[in-house]
Amino acid sequence: MIKEKAKGLLIVVSGPSGAGKDTIVSRVVANMKNIKVSVSMTSRAPRGSEVNGKDYYFVTKKQFEESIKNDELLEYAVVHNNQYYGTPKAKIEEDLNNGVSIVLVIDIQGALKIKERIPEALFIFIMPPSMEVLKERLIARKTESKDKMLERFKTAYKEINEYTKYNYVVVNDKLDVAVDKVEAIIKAEKCRVDRIEDIYLNNKEEFIHEGLIDKKFNNEDIEIR
Ligand code: 5GP
Repeated sequence: MIKEKAKGLLIVVSGPSGAGKDTIVSRVVANMKNIKVSVSMTSRAPRGSEVNGKDYYFVTKKQFEESIKNDELLEYAVVHNNQYYGTPKAKIEEDLNNGVSIVLVIDIQGALKIKERIPEALFIFIMPPSMEVLKERLIARKTESKDKMLERFKTAYKEINEYTKYNYVVVNDKLDVAVDKVEAIIKAEKCRVDRIEDIYLNNKEEFIHEGLIDKKFNNEDIEIR
C-alpha cells in the first residue's frame, strides 16, 4: 500500500468582517481530521459571548507590545485603525511537522506578511455575495457601535480589492456550499505533488514491490484468465 505522507498545511483565511469566515472555518475544522484553528491574540475587548483562550487571547496593548518585543508572534497587524491582532508562534511549527494543518483567520496585512515569510502557505479569500449583504450581516450582529461598524465597512471596501493576492476565492452566498468548497480546496491541496514530495522516500519498498520503479512490465507479471 502506498501511503501519502505530508506536513500539515498552513492555511490563511481572510475576508471582510461579516463575510462569514469564522463560521466557515469552524465548520470545516469540525468536519475534517488533523486540522485546527490558531487562536489569535488581540488588544480589543471581548464582545458578546467571546471566551478568552478560545476566541482570542485578550490582552492589553502593553502586553501585546511585550509579545512583539519578545518575538512571540508569527505576524501581527493593527486592524480597524486602532487594535492589535497577531498570531502566536508557539506550537505552529511542531503541529505542521506532525501533519496537523493550522488555519489562521487573519486580515489581509497579516496574510501578506505570512506570504512573504511562508510562500507555500495556502491563501483563501472569503467574499461576501454583495456589499449589501455584508452591510445587513454587520447590522444583524448588533455587536458594534455605529462608528465601529462604519470603520469595519470602510476596511471591507479596502480589503475586497485584495482578493487577487490569494490562491482561491470562495463566495459565501450559501454557507453549506462555501464550506464544501473550502474543504475541497484543502483536500486537493493536500494531494499536490509538491506537498507530498517525500511520498517516494516514505514508500520506497512499496514502489519497488508494485513495480513502479527499477522494473519493466512483462506480460507474465499479470495473469489474465
Ligand atoms: P474581529 O475584531 O472581527 O474579531 O476581527 C477583526 C479582523 O482582525 C478580522 O479581519 C480578523 O480576520 C483579523 N484578525 C484576527 N486575528 C488576527 C491575527 O492574528 N492577525 C491579523 N493580522 N489579523 C487578525
